[in-house]
Amino acid sequence: MSLEPDSIRRVSGFGEVQWADGYVFQPETIAEIAPLFDLARAEKRTICLRGAGRSYGDASIDPEQIILDLCNLILVLQWDPESGVITVEPGVTIQQLWQRCLQTGWWPPVVPGTMHVTLGGALAMNIHGKNHFRAGSLGQHVLSLDLLTPDGKTQTISREDELFNSIIGGAGLLGIITKVTLQMHKITSGELDVTALKTVSWAETLAYFDRVAAEVDYLVGWVDMSNPKGHAVIHHANYSPESHPASMQTSAQELPPKIFGFPKAQLWRIMRFVTNPVAVKVLNGIKFALAPKQPKTFRQSLVAFSFLLDYVPNWQKCYRTGFLQFQVFLPKEEALEIFPLIAEMQRSSGFFAYLAVLKRHRPDPFTITWALDGYSLAMDFPVHPASKDALIAFLHEVTDVVLACGGRFYLAKDSTLRPEDIQSYLGQETIDKFQGLKSKHDPENLLQTQLARRVGLI
Ligand SMILES: Cc1cc2nc3c(=O)[nH]c(=O)nc-3n(C[C@H](O)[C@H](O)[C@H](O)COP(=O)(O)OP(=O)(O)OC[C@H]3O[C@@H](n4cnc5c(N)ncnc54)[C@H](O)[C@@H]3O)c2cc1C
Repeated sequence: MSLEPDSIRRVSGFGEVQWADGYVFQPETIAEIAPLFDLARAEKRTICLRGAGRSYGDASIDPEQIILDLCNLILVLQWDPESGVITVEPGVTIQQLWQRCLQTGWWPPVVPGTMHVTLGGALAMNIHGKNHFRAGSLGQHVLSLDLLTPDGKTQTISREDELFNSIIGGAGLLGIITKVTLQMHKITSGELDVTALKTVSWAETLAYFDRVAAEVDYLVGWVDMSNPKGHAVIHHANYSPESHPASMQTSAQELPPKIFGFPKAQLWRIMRFVTNPVAVKVLNGIKFALAPKQPKTFRQSLVAFSFLLDYVPNWQKCYRTGFLQFQVFLPKEEALEIFPLIAEMQRSSGFFAYLAVLKRHRPDPFTITWALDGYSLAMDFPVHPASKDALIAFLHEVTDVVLACGGRFYLAKDSTLRPEDIQSYLGQETIDKFQGLKSKHDPENLLQTQLARRVGLI
């Protein structure tokens, strides 16, 4: 086995701002992985693990290194529809998971805003959903996993093992997750009862979140970051209590093939014409104006509610020269002061987030974690080559504000954190602990990513 020039491919983060040319390997079986460690040693390269490449920044890219793409490892190894326990290979996606389990009344306990992520990638970043405040993160539903380390050995790690909490969220740096056993969530209907309403200020939005959090299964807010008051539209949802087997058929969950009469595959081309500050402000205003003042409840399929961002394939291309996603996590006591401050900072800086999504969170036991008892706001900033450096400088200013109030960040959404930033929110003791595990399980530092070096995790 050798590194052939024709295996060189360009890979990017989902935001299409960071790119890297690497030697891409796509094993069809787990057995094909271990020899790649010897190849890396012989060629003096490192290995960057990659799932579906849905992290926004540089989490699964590394220039001139081996890119180990695990997307073809998609076997369902065991599925028990009685207990809802499923064992899969790491390339199985959230889409494949729900499609396999829904008909027998099971749904993934946690899903992100897109179904096109692999379980290996989702656990390496420890994803959260719109139910994080209630259900926790995906890692909290894993019963055990197999880890293949660069010495070629595979160990099964259960939740009780100390290493477990560092692999979940460990950014693919301690070993390769080659098998996952997950507890699915029992449902009786493929539909949710969804309630929508608008709020006119940050104070009203956060108060509403606090009021309903104990009663709802899912909760999410869209915030108009161009509006000085903080106009928002909130959606919350509960699993439908009725039994409705027809809605649990895969065919009942399909997303519409057309949106506003346009074939959805081509919609991103049209969206390009309205991806500019003036049009986004107008569209935000229309979205807010059309939202109900009083709570309005309707039924929606699990897929339609969960994967709004999958309605338009390739929507990220509407940004032309890419975008940075920047998700800040704030302690609940600070949110009412700091969110409006961040909104004001971005308006006065000239950079404004075209999309901003608010969620409620709770702490978790993982070593490299973004989780806290509070809120997050995920913001999409378009990148223009001429102002990219100024945008990054602005995001560093916001980072300082977030860190000063005890906030955190999420590596899956990051492109700008500096070593001192993650040292500030994780603490040196935690970083030392993680690096100690890294020396033990990967002493030659074979597993690396651009992100891990940038933020000083390795
Ligand atoms: C439209 C959209 C919406 C999103 N919404 C959310 C959301 O609501 N909540 C949320 O939490 N995230 C969200 N994300 C982020 C996404 O869930 C994470 O970035 C996730 O990690 C992507 O999985 P992936 O398979 O694409 O992995 P990649 O992005 O390819 O890799 C992620 C990390 O996993 C490592 N890795 C990959 N496979 C393995 C393996 N088998 N073993 C060990 N390490 C591995 C990689 O080295 C990398 O560090 C969203 C992303 C998009 C594009």
